[in-house]
Amino acid sequence: MTIFDPRAFAEMISTETGLGFEGSEGRTNQGNRFLELTPVGYPPGQTFSICVEIGWRRIDVRFKFGSFAGELMSSVRSVDASGRHVFRAVLDACSNVGADVVLNLNGAIRSHRDDAMWDESWRSFEFAVGKGMLAINEGNDTADMHLIEEWTIRVAAAVIALLPVEEDGEESFDVHGLPEGAKVRIEVNRYERDRRNRAAALAIHGHRCMACDTDMAELYGPVAEGLIEVHHVVPVSQVGPEYIIDPRSDLVPLCPDCHAVAHRRSPPYSVKELQNMLRRDCGNPKISPPVQPGRRR
Ligand SMILES: [Zn+2]
Ligand SMILES: [Zn+2]
Repeated sequence: MTIFDPRAFAEMISTETGLGFEGSEGRTNQGNRFLELTPVGYPPGQTFSICVEIGWRRIDVRFKFGSFAGELMSSVRSVDASGRHVFRAVLDACSNVGADVVLNLNGAIRSHRDDAMWDESWRSFEFAVGKGMLAINEGNDTADMHLIEEWTIRVAAAVIALLPVEEDGEESFDVHGLPEGAKVRIEVNRYERDRRNRAAALAIHGHRCMACDTDMAELYGPVAEGLIEVHHVVPVSQVGPEYIIDPRSDLVPLCPDCHAVAHRRSPPYSVKELQNMLRRDCGNPKISPPVQPGRRR
């Protein structure tokens, strides 16, 4: 059985999602281990929990509102169109890789693709993502941990899509290491800043740079865990304010290097163009093994 500290787990999910969680653990009546995450700093019951049950070759991740979370539930129900879209896209990505996605509204099973649910009144709402046939509990703690993280992050991304969010004020960042006067300011657009989009893009595409295939944590170790940027491939100038993001096609994870290079031109270089730049020099350690766009870790 995996030795897995619920506090470290909560910290990892907090870093990934930008939302503070605290973790606890326990056992189900069937004897399966579970890890439970709740948002930190709120009265218990007024928010929600994400419960991760580790079964035999199986992981089930369940989202539930607390018993006194009526207020939060009504703001989730009235989430904007892009939040709904991101929620659906993340759960679609889960079912595309063979997970069971079960959504329960007012005691009845519904499809997460059913748009009618947003116009109904909600008395209860929960959903779960379960994946079987996993190589888990076979003695490799690190591999187990990655699987648990991977599936929890997907559910957390779907949850974050539905939560009322505040924009952070960061408008742009500097590229360091360039001579004075040649400094480039990268305009990080609002789609790239949006926490929901970031969480969804990483849940769908994974944490490898889609241009150079680097996983920063493999390169630098745990200190670089989660260090990946999310890039919006459609120039902001070409989309209107009502544009609804599709995290599958509009957002790509890029390492800080590739992201900076992408923005050396406006409109930005495409992932394909970045890959071609890297292939130019076959001695580049960043292209070995060969680039496989869209590969999951
Ligand atoms: Zn890269
Ligand atoms: Zn970008």
